[in-house]
Amino acid sequence: MSFTLHGIGVSGGIAIGRAHLVSHAALEVNHYVIPPHQVMEESLRFDAAIQKVRAEFNGLRAEIPAGAPAEFEAFVNLHRMILDDSTLSAEPRRIIETELCNAEWAIKVQSDALLAQFDAIEDTYLRERRNDVIQVVERVLRALSGQPGYVPPPASGAEQDLILIARDLSPADVVQFKRHHFASFITDLGGATSHTAVVARSLNIPSIVALRRARELVREDELVIVDGSNGVLIIDPDQRVLNEYQQRKLAFGAVRRKLLSLRDTQAVTRDGVAVDLQANIELPDDVEQVWENGAVGIGLFRSEFLFLNRPDLPDEDEQFEAYRKVALAMKGQPVTIRTYDLGADKTIDDGPQHQINPALGLRAIRLCLTEPQRFLSQLRALLRASHYGNISILIPMLASSTEIDQTLQMIARAKASLDDEGIAYNRQVKIGSMIEVPAAALALDVFLRKLDFISIGTNDLIQYTLAIDRADDSVAYLYDPLHPAILNLVSTIIKRADKAQVPVTMCGEMAGDVSLTRLLLGLGLRSFSMHAAHVPDVKQQVLETDVAALRALATRMLRATDPVRLKAMLAKLNGMN
Ligand code: PEP
Ligand code: MG
Repeated sequence: MSFTLHGIGVSGGIAIGRAHLVSHAALEVNHYVIPPHQVMEESLRFDAAIQKVRAEFNGLRAEIPAGAPAEFEAFVNLHRMILDDSTLSAEPRRIIETELCNAEWAIKVQSDALLAQFDAIEDTYLRERRNDVIQVVERVLRALSGQPGYVPPPASGAEQDLILIARDLSPADVVQFKRHHFASFITDLGGATSHTAVVARSLNIPSIVALRRARELVREDELVIVDGSNGVLIIDPDQRVLNEYQQRKLAFGAVRRKLLSLRDTQAVTRDGVAVDLQANIELPDDVEQVWENGAVGIGLFRSEFLFLNRPDLPDEDEQFEAYRKVALAMKGQPVTIRTYDLGADKTIDDGPQHQINPALGLRAIRLCLTEPQRFLSQLRALLRASHYGNISILIPMLASSTEIDQTLQMIARAKASLDDEGIAYNRQVKIGSMIEVPAAALALDVFLRKLDFISIGTNDLIQYTLAIDRADDSVAYLYDPLHPAILNLVSTIIKRADKAQVPVTMCGEMAGDVSLTRLLLGLGLRSFSMHAAHVPDVKQQVLETDVAALRALATRMLRATDPVRLKAMLAKLNGMN
């Protein structure tokens, strides 16, 4: 029977294909058969994962600060006990041997059996311990996924016909899809500017988040249509609907091809205002898309993605090679590399664990400054790479003058160490700050005085200003780039930067939202960085805009407070010819 689900469309276009239900590092894992001669290796892999998790628990116990609530130690001990129980630490080995299956599957079989027993328990306290089992098993699965990526090849069907359906995916999960060619993916959780959605956009395939119950209601291999532009998922469509969407898919492809023909056209408005359209990337291989879509530089390279999906961390040389590769591939065009923004939803094994509120915790520059050696090796790698291209360094989540000073001192230390070793780097390399914490936007002068450029990170600026967790679908409806607080902050940042003659870019998702291009131009923005695939749409809008004609209306929008009126004014702005 055909039915429809609605979520938040995060990447436009239409995909038609077969549903493939996948998991993130949770309790649903894929099953594959291993040949008998690999049983020993698979068992060892399992043992190594158990050891790793055991070491994590020991580390956690050793680091419990004096005065921490007693429950914390009890909690770690409980998890350690669950892990050490032979049900989880030994029995899966027997399953690997007898069923010739992968370690992930073996532990899943065991944990399913254990959870079923918990479900049958009457006692509420004991029944609630099932979540503790889940958390321990997730840890083991994560330890296992430190080796190959967790997304194994799907059981059947060509990738390009598959619609991946998951409850939730982390940004690290999604970035792995860059190596695959799925038709689309959708998740039950997530917000429009969660990092998962941000990476989804860069894949340039239709996708939807916050569908709530898709994972539960759609069956494996069912025919589905994903309308990423409208956030609609149609399950088991009838022939008439299918025909309609096949037509729409063709039309979407035709429009896209037409837009791509603008690749070599300069982005200049009708009244002669030149606009800089750059691209955001996550990995060095994304550079290809940057050229294909006609971006004139890289405005944001989210370097933390080099640190994800691996058991170890990239050392200075490996990072240097990655940054140099991008700099050389961009042939002298600007390349703005952001120092790693780890923490919150982009975690590494070695990073902070169990933060009470990770988005407000040790994230981005805060984490860098607590790990000076790791940060220094990234800074040295960036400086060394600056010798080979037009690299600038961008610092995420700076909020205070002290943090700026500490960061600049670290950069000076990195430079001094390179000088001592006689290693070349660009001495004039520009250092900029993301403006993504309201405190930075409100106390902008010190940023403009101490740094060479700024880049407005609207994803976090909106998250922190409106107090809505960007990864939480239950508050996603509150995400509103047209909120008067946001419009006024953005406008003020642009004006003050212009006055101080400090270059200002916008690299959050607002910059790639074609419905906001005119408004941002009217507010004075001249430099945008977005997913490469959005550059052609935004460029077309720039080409059709007369900035002088819309400035007055854009400025009036700063004084409007009623959301309905603001929407109407935006529609008027976008309809002006
Ligand atoms: C932002 O916050 O707007 C931004 C560009 O950075 P990220 O999305 O990686 O947090
Ligand atoms: Mg950010």
